[in-house]
Amino acid sequence: MANVAILTCSNLTQDLGCPSYQCMKAIRDGIARFDRYSDEEGVELFGIINCAGCPTAVVPEKLFERVRSLVATGVEAVHLSTCMTVLCPFKKKYLKLLGEKFPEVAFVEGTHDAPEGATAEEMAETMKTGIKGLLTQPRMSMADVIGMTMNKE
Ligand code: SF4
Repeated sequence: MANVAILTCSNLTQDLGCPSYQCMKAIRDGIARFDRYSDEEGVELFGIINCAGCPTAVVPEKLFERVRSLVATGVEAVHLSTCMTVLCPFKKKYLKLLGEKFPEVAFVEGTHDAPEGATAEEMAETMKTGIKGLLTQPRMSMADVIGMTMNKE
């Protein structure tokens, strides 16, 4: 049995509420990036955690503590979620630094594949457009409450 963990993008899981459904399905079915364990009588998910958020230009190491929690469970591999591999501008840097910091663990790009009938490129484009739309949709914030309060005075 292969023991693995997943690292997700906090924009998707924290801001937009993705329950990592496609990642879970890929693990359960042993498909996509998890078919590499087909010789190991299945895959067990030991943990899932989101990234630490924007690392600024100077502290990509911010991610280490998040990943340390996963590594502490004894996993042999940490998969970067497919959304993270498509959307994260720090992915290459993270992969390099994490590999150096935790050489005992394999860092694998991706979890699930594109939906049936779509190519990986089509999935990536749809994901980029959809996520941008969701993250930039108009919504009420404290600015609106402050504005309403000011207008009453
Ligand atoms: S650093 Fe990357 S993985 Fe983390 S929230 Fe930003 S885009 Fe997502």
